[in-house]
Amino acid sequence: MEVPENAGVITGRQETGSGSLRDRLKFLQWRDVDAGRLRALAEQGARVSAVFVEQLYQHLGEFRETAVILGDSGAVARLKRQQLRYYAGLFEREIDADYVQDRLQIGQVHERVGLELKWYLGSYRLFLSQMMHAIWSNSGPEETMRLARLDSLLKRVFLDMTLAAEAYVDAKHKALGASEARYAHALRGANDGIWEWDLQSDGWHVSERWANMLDLQIHEVGARVDDWLARVHPEDLAELKRSLDAHISGRVPWLHHEYRIRRRNGDFLWVLIRGVIETDALGHRRLAGSQTDISERQRIRLRLEYSARHDALTGLLNREQLNQVLIASIASLGRPGARCAALLFIDLDRFKVINDSLGHAVGDQVLVRIAERLQTTMRQGDQLARFGGDEFVMVLNDLASLADADQVAERVLAQLRQPLCFDGRCLVVNCSIGVAPLQPGQDLRDALQAADLALYNAKEAGKARFSRYDQGMQERAHERLQIESNVLQALQLDQFELDYQPVYDLTPGAPNAPVACEALLRWRDGAQRIAPGSFIHILEESGEIIPVGYWTLEQACRQARRWQLAGHPDFSCSVNLSGVQLQETDFCTHLRRILHETGLPPRTLVLEITESVLLDQAGNTLPNLREIAAMDVRLALDDFGTGYCSLGYLNRFPLDILKLDRSFLHEAHRNPRQAIICRSIIELSRKLGLQVVAEGIEREDQVDFLRQEACYLGQGFLLGRPMGAEAFHQLWGCQAE
Ligand code: C2E
Ligand code: MG
Ligand code: MG
Repeated sequence: MEVPENAGVITGRQETGSGSLRDRLKFLQWRDVDAGRLRALAEQGARVSAVFVEQLYQHLGEFRETAVILGDSGAVARLKRQQLRYYAGLFEREIDADYVQDRLQIGQVHERVGLELKWYLGSYRLFLSQMMHAIWSNSGPEETMRLARLDSLLKRVFLDMTLAAEAYVDAKHKALGASEARYAHALRGANDGIWEWDLQSDGWHVSERWANMLDLQIHEVGARVDDWLARVHPEDLAELKRSLDAHISGRVPWLHHEYRIRRRNGDFLWVLIRGVIETDALGHRRLAGSQTDISERQRIRLRLEYSARHDALTGLLNREQLNQVLIASIASLGRPGARCAALLFIDLDRFKVINDSLGHAVGDQVLVRIAERLQTTMRQGDQLARFGGDEFVMVLNDLASLADADQVAERVLAQLRQPLCFDGRCLVVNCSIGVAPLQPGQDLRDALQAADLALYNAKEAGKARFSRYDQGMQERAHERLQIESNVLQALQLDQFELDYQPVYDLTPGAPNAPVACEALLRWRDGAQRIAPGSFIHILEESGEIIPVGYWTLEQACRQARRWQLAGHPDFSCSVNLSGVQLQETDFCTHLRRILHETGLPPRTLVLEITESVLLDQAGNTLPNLREIAAMDVRLALDDFGTGYCSLGYLNRFPLDILKLDRSFLHEAHRNPRQAIICRSIIELSRKLGLQVVAEGIEREDQVDFLRQEACYLGQGFLLGRPMGAEAFHQLWGCQAE
């Protein structure tokens, strides 16, 4: 008999081809005589199989699993033909390479079409049963020969069955391998780590990728579930355990949880763990699943969350977040044993001037630096938010008493008093603070409003200070509202008046008579006379300052001319201008008309402007200033030194007089640096041909200081307070007209 060389190889096993088949046949006790016996059965076999094949397919059709495969009638006819051919070969074909090949293929095909071995082997049983009956009932040969033929048939059938079964199993194995390979590939693509926890033994297994995510080798991960849990971020551990428990106990169908896990270098990585529990045939429970690195997603999410809650410039909490903080603070005040809480509303003084004079980029830098400074004044648990522009809100929790809030406010003021130096420039940016207590059950808007009112109070009281909220502030706020609506009608109702403050010649021995005056606006509202600080801005914002400004100018010019005609021909008068007025195209037309109508020589009129007017060079301001100068009306720069105006400006504009702000003089006698600044300003002004008028002289030593510096013009409460025209006239010792 020819033994095929490659029969064993085809099954995929590591057997030697011819040797393996030879051994198989030997084991089955197959001999050449068996082939002869089968050939003798061929005719009988053909008869049996012709009937059997029909019966078999009918029988197979009774089972759901096989009926599905046999659904196609064309395919069934083909299968029947193949089967009949096989039965014929069973009796007649030689066991050669082709034969073995065919058997193996049968097994592979069955695996591919999903026909399980039980149907294949069972069919052999049915066939053998019929053959057995046919052989037995054949009365031809004697009994021993019939038994011998049946034995030969069994050998052949078992050879075929084994070959096909092995090929089937082998194909199944390969398919499984391929599926596992695909699965592994997919996992690599997903870039996820795989883990398994054996709940019986608490064993812990992970894939290489799982370990690599943490910058570890598999053997470094540890084999117990506790080794895993020990790597979980302490803040996330309790939640993770709760999630695990919810799934293990069956309350949640899947494990799905985000947590942080420690990497080799001690950093924590945000991961998403997913898994599901399974119980095997032996009742063992295993939880297994994947772990995904979500650090990037988490980073973006955290960044978005952060920017939704923080101010982009300073990194402080923003307004929305402040509301949350306030709600939480107010709520916590309701708890038993709660201590006090307070709100600090902080507003930078004159920040607009910094922005206008030094530009927004510097303004931004100032805000950032201030935010840093404010943070240094806080205690743990306090919160700081940027409320808007130059406004900050500090929430102070767990205070022993409200006096502690005052202390924090003092600290903030002291911090901001230190000069801010950057880009070779130093600024002092003071702030005003409103302090308000938080009350249990309070509406947060009321809390903010109370602090805002207190802030207003601090500003009113002169800025660079703090003020604590009290009930009266609410009433005063109402009054203020009243003022705002009333002042706009004051001109029509003839409620404005002018006071005049005298300016004296400080030269030793000079006559004790005013050489000039400054006209200052007053509003008579009922019994009270209101100073401009509390209403000028309202007039400016509404535009009402324009008609009021012309009224003031006309009154002052008329009065000054009267005094000139009364024997003081060189007497001059200053009038304050608001920046809004200089924006008017026809300002100079009006000025000319007023001078003409009142007869005041232009040279004796001084118009006072502030530094911010010079900084705002757009529009009509500069042309108006030039025209004023051309008319021989003099220009004074008021409050010099308070507006961040550089000395270079003095030369650039047609200025005649510089008014040294009273804050300089205030300190000069006891602060050598301040004295030096005063001295330099006076000297520089003189060199530039500017006259200097010192403002706010309140003490004799200030007069002495000014004389030393050869500054001989001044005004102030010491020399004369602002007063009505009649009182002013008395200064010359004559009767008012
Ligand atoms: P200003 O032009 O610097 O006026 C001087 C201010 O200093 C006046 O305040 C005056 O009363 C006050 N003062 C004078 N001497 C002393 C002193 O020795 N000590 C102290 N502590 N203060 C002194 P007032 O009248 O309240 O005016 C405030 C500001 O309102 C003025 O500052 C000016 O900028 C503005 N203003 C006044 N009248 C007018 C006006 O008619 N039009 C415009 N646009 N602004 C005006
Ligand atoms: Mg002035
Ligand atoms: Mg002034």
